[in-house]
Amino acid sequence: MPHTLFISDLHLCESRPAINEIFFRFLKAEAVQAEALYILGDLFEYWIGDDDIDHGLNRQVADALAELSQSGPRVFFMHGNRDFLIGERFAAEAGLTLLPDPTHVDLYGMPILLMHGDTLCTDDVDYQRFRSMVRGADWQHAFLAKPLEERRKEVEDYRRRSEQAKQSKSMEIMDVAARSVEKTLRRSGSSILIHGHTHRPAHHRIEIDGMQRDRWVLPDWIDVAAGLRIAPGTGPVFFGPR
Ligand code: MN
Repeated sequence: MPHTLFISDLHLCESRPAINEIFFRFLKAEAVQAEALYILGDLFEYWIGDDDIDHGLNRQVADALAELSQSGPRVFFMHGNRDFLIGERFAAEAGLTLLPDPTHVDLYGMPILLMHGDTLCTDDVDYQRFRSMVRGADWQHAFLAKPLEERRKEVEDYRRRSEQAKQSKSMEIMDVAARSVEKTLRRSGSSILIHGHTHRPAHHRIEIDGMQRDRWVLPDWIDVAAGLRIAPGTGPVFFGPR
């Protein structure tokens, strides 16, 4: 039966070999049977530039994704807040199509809005300020001009500081803001929103202007593959634990 898969927040990195293996098995056994695979950000724990593509795991992931798309399924990728520096070179070598955030798709007659989800966390003012800086051309140009090892070190230092900052922020601040979800859905006209980022998998039903909308939050990958499957006539269904 034709179907499409949505995943996000795998956070692949060298230090978590078990989940990397689960991902490679998922591509070979599950994803290969789908018409399309949408990766909605944070495939990698971090990405310091496409010139790091040959570094161990990065090359393995690019090759595994390329093998998948050569076997049939179309592969789409949207940037997450960890891997927003993935560029055209990675896309070409991994055989995937980069999607802007947000992207609207019509799938089996369903109008669906896809996002990573971090832009909906508008109560986290510090994060949004940081985000607009690192998504700007000036910052990216300066960062990518540094030697790889310096970039790697900077990102690792940043991750440590951000882990500490997270502990002092409330759970509400780091979740999506209801008014941002409403505004986004109202503007898009989609009846279904799929996003990741918050690691709080759920199906939320919301009424906006008298119309029923559905917000599906993708699970992160802890020790097993997980995400959403959509087939004609059935609507989204979670697979894996959540
Ligand atoms: Mn994220």
